[in-house]
Amino acid sequence: MTRQKTLAAGREYLAIPGPSVIPDAVLQAMHRAAPNIYAGELVDMTHSVVADLRRVARTSQHVAIYIANGHGAWEAALSNVIGPGDRVLVPATGRFAHGWADQCRGLGAETEIIEFGRASTFDLDRIGAALKADTGHRFKAVLATHVDTSSSVRNDIAGLRRVIDECGHPALLMVDCIASLGCDVFEMDAWGVDVMVSACQKGLMVPPGVSFVWFSDRAAEARARMARVSRYWDWAPRANPAEYYQHFGGTAPTHHIFGLRAALDMILGEGMEQVWARHAHLARAVWAACETWGQEGPFALNIADPSLRSHAVTAARLGAPHGTALREWVAGQIGLTLGIGLGMAESNDPAWHGFFRLGHMGHVNGQMIMGMLGGIEAGLCAIGVPHGKGGLEAAAKVLAEG
Ligand SMILES: *Cc1c(COP(=O)(O)O)cnc(C)c1O
Repeated sequence: MTRQKTLAAGREYLAIPGPSVIPDAVLQAMHRAAPNIYAGELVDMTHSVVADLRRVARTSQHVAIYIANGHGAWEAALSNVIGPGDRVLVPATGRFAHGWADQCRGLGAETEIIEFGRASTFDLDRIGAALKADTGHRFKAVLATHVDTSSSVRNDIAGLRRVIDECGHPALLMVDCIASLGCDVFEMDAWGVDVMVSACQKGLMVPPGVSFVWFSDRAAEARARMARVSRYWDWAPRANPAEYYQHFGGTAPTHHIFGLRAALDMILGEGMEQVWARHAHLARAVWAACETWGQEGPFALNIADPSLRSHAVTAARLGAPHGTALREWVAGQIGLTLGIGLGMAESNDPAWHGFFRLGHMGHVNGQMIMGMLGGIEAGLCAIGVPHGKGGLEAAAKVLAEG
């Protein structure tokens, strides 16, 4: 066997936009014997997890838990309020809006997509025009992605609510916060969101496997008017169970509940405002390095306006084949895994190799961000891509700000 001479031995760093780094406290909470699922600690813990999931989403309304990934939460949310023949308006700012819209069509609904491209946010006036043109109020819901993980744009959800209200349109506002919950500021009740979906493996720092649908009283009324809702996805018994098993439509996700409890303790112990502030500060350090590298050569951030950037994921381009070459170098040589580009080019298009993404969501701190950025700078040197000098120093200065 030939021994490889690399610097990759040591703790690896998975810097992709989900699944995110799992805290040791979460791993330890999950490393235990199977519990009783009928009474005792697990049942009590589930009640506290449900209460704290409301706190994380900033809502006093309802939440249902699903043993599923984010796609499952999408399907669950739609299944409760969208049926065959319904119409749904979908402003799209990247790959994920299209995925959710496709699930609508799978349920027999019609979608009207307003396309905003792969590097910008909503134009609220265009959305307002589409709502005003719908004089018969046929749109039952507006589907919005808070942070599109492919483009790394952060959309204005409060502004979208305002536009819906100004148009006097009764459509439900349904929001995908899978990449933003526990990272970017989100206020379900204050922003007037009717349905919000998220999953546990991004800002919530738990291995993939459970996801959530929060819903308002208004959405519950829309659910009650449905001709039928598939039993398994029905949020009503999950949010308001007569028996414990109804929380999950069957056996509880035992170890995920233990992991979630530990993760929610960390998040609420730090405080939502501080969790948001930490992500914002770390994101500014990432951008400072990237913008400095971009002063010379091909490095560029996908979202030009900092006020529209996610605080949890950053999409970047380096030109093919350098994006893939950089990812392969940092993974193989120094134990750092960066995200692939998503939705920017088809995977069989040579241009695909020009894109990549940095995940900085959840359990990340200043020294991890500096390690990731240092690794990228080493990679840029190693693969010989010209770049502006001083990226690390620019990031360090941002971290040093109070
Ligand atoms: C990750 C993600 C999804 C999909 O979640 P899965 O767990 O992979 O099914 C959907 N929407 C957004 C915004 C995401 O970031």
